Amino acid sequence: MAGIYIHIPFCRSRCTYCDFYSTALPPVWQVPYVRAVCREMEFRESEFSEFSEKLEPTIYLGGGTPSQLSREALLELFEKGRQLSRLSHLSPRQEITIEANPDDVTPEWIETLKRTPVNRVSMGVQSLDDNILRALRRRHTSQQALHAIKLLQEAGYHNLSIDLIYGLPGQRLQAFRDDVCRMLDTDIPHLSAYALQFEQGTPLYEQLQKGQVEEADEELSLSCYETLMDLTHKAGMEHYEISNFARPGFRSRHNSSYWTGTPYVGLGAGAHSYDGHKLRSSNCEDVKQYIRNIGEDKRPCEQEVLDEDTLYNEMVMLRLRTCEGLSLEEVEDRYGKERRIYLTKMAQSHMQAGRLTNTADGHLCLTRRGLFVSDDIISDLMV
Ligand code: SF4
Repeated sequence: MAGIYIHIPFCRSRCTYCDFYSTALPPVWQVPYVRAVCREMEFRESEFSEFSEKLEPTIYLGGGTPSQLSREALLELFEKGRQLSRLSHLSPRQEITIEANPDDVTPEWIETLKRTPVNRVSMGVQSLDDNILRALRRRHTSQQALHAIKLLQEAGYHNLSIDLIYGLPGQRLQAFRDDVCRMLDTDIPHLSAYALQFEQGTPLYEQLQKGQVEEADEELSLSCYETLMDLTHKAGMEHYEISNFARPGFRSRHNSSYWTGTPYVGLGAGAHSYDGHKLRSSNCEDVKQYIRNIGEDKRPCEQEVLDEDTLYNEMVMLRLRTCEGLSLEEVEDRYGKERRIYLTKMAQSHMQAGRLTNTADGHLCLTRRGLFVSDDIISDLMV
């Protein structure tokens, strides 16, 4: 498995908690931007060499807000991109995801989507409390979110993923429980739920500094997480990654490839790439500069060669987040026997306390108890 990520950095307005790279540039920039992405795809074709036809790489349009792309820009991306490199081998089995905001999901937008090979939609709902949505400066209401899910399902898009946030200012446990229940009632097959982070530089962080909002207390966040695990389990979902839940057969293949360290090519301003070995790169976070540079056949990016310790730490962090866990044999193969001994030693106390388990096939996995303190465990196992 390998992935192609395409960053669509346009947002109509900024949500208070968000620190992703996006811009509120007018729509006139969309077509030139999409053309630059196709051009980047063209001159990085050699990097796609590992993505054989058989592997059927996943494609993920993330943002920003990909559903903000005009009809013209969205169709151009797939029509032009289709003639290039791996996109020309698109098969219906491939997972091709677009991120959408509920207020963009209209019958007209779905009609445009039908003309693309997209077969999965990931929608940021975040909460079904309209007061909270307004405070976060989300552009949609809870009704719009529920209606968007219905419209997509009626149009045949059943492979849907919904994002929720917990630990929001003013959110109570019962309200979060109701949100999860209402989402599960819609029969979506995939749910991602994240604890709110106060990222430096965001308006929400500033509000926190000024005392205008309060951080949810830890106990409440843990109760939300526990409720989430219970309700999704009852609904027949597997908890396959710390923040991700799916019905059988509906795991996100694209995100799973990030967690297992497989290569991915990131296209567009602010997109990251990884060669599956030691090289990671990221494109500049500036749409205008990106378009200018790509026009001169230059890729505006920074490259980083990862050292062994960084690679090991990332492996620990990403694999332990998954339900498959971290393979001790793979650690030894990649980083030597010493590192395996170190890892086993560091894991000991967590195993004795029932926070980690060593499976029959030699994988270290977080237990339910361990999931609540995963950050502490992961940092203990790092070097
Ligand atoms: S729509 Fe998404 S990417 Fe844009 S500001 Fe809001 S959370 Fe961030």
